[in-house]
Amino acid sequence: DLVLDRLAKRFGANQVLKDLSLTVTDGEILTLLGPSGCGKSTTLWSIAGLHRPDSGTIRFGDRVLFDGRGVHVEPERRDFGVVFQSYAVWPHMSVADNVGYPLKLRKVGRKRRRERVMEVLELVELERFGDRYPHQLSGGQQQRVALARALAHPPHLLLLDEPFSNLDAKLRDRAREWLKALQRQIGVTTIFVTHDQHEALSMSDRIVVMEAGAVRQIGTPTEVYEHPADPFVADFVGATN
Ligand code: ATP
Ligand code: MG
Repeated sequence: DLVLDRLAKRFGANQVLKDLSLTVTDGEILTLLGPSGCGKSTTLWSIAGLHRPDSGTIRFGDRVLFDGRGVHVEPERRDFGVVFQSYAVWPHMSVADNVGYPLKLRKVGRKRRRERVMEVLELVELERFGDRYPHQLSGGQQQRVALARALAHPPHLLLLDEPFSNLDAKLRDRAREWLKALQRQIGVTTIFVTHDQHEALSMSDRIVVMEAGAVRQIGTPTEVYEHPADPFVADFVGATN
């Protein structure tokens, strides 16, 4: 399990995370849902180790990644797959080189690398696109390349920050179903970030509703939708919305 315990993070005078606590269970898709600016990306970056929280604890399994005394596991040692809002694929590298890059960093040999790149390109249904360059792909295809790259070195945890933001409404629906099926197939624990309540309701095993850096409610889609804990949750996701 991944456990966040009373995580706090401030940017200048802006207290962005306020004693945020939650547990992600092995194998589940947990969605962070909340309005723009509520701290979803900051939470994900902190888990990835790209932001250093001011206080609190992050544990993964029996490893303490971070606590008040400091960072105990560097980002590159966490073995998390990340697809971030602002993380594009590298334009000067082919699709296959983009996807194989994390393996190259880990000194995986050329032959094994090529096999694994084909495997993950098949997972994202881009096996015929290995030789293309990102500018020859649609936005949605590029996002699938980013996902393939996140999966190349099998991650212990998959962190996805609005991975369908480049897709139109209809493609988004298909992409959600496809991602959910893929997640079931490979069984990787996933944290998914969105500000879209429909996306959260259809994708998730559990939803964390956030507001202003704090958790308002954690529950299954049905619980959150039918039994919102407070007026904010009711307004943001509830059945009366
Ligand atoms: P969105 O749905 O728009 O992506 P979010 O929930 O992901 O929003 P965050 O990106 O976590 O929100 O930002 C939370 C708050 O922290 C915002 O007020 C934002 O302006 C601020 N913030 C985020 N990153 C930084 C930074 N590097 N420096 C200063 N302020 C930041
Ligand atoms: Mg964000």
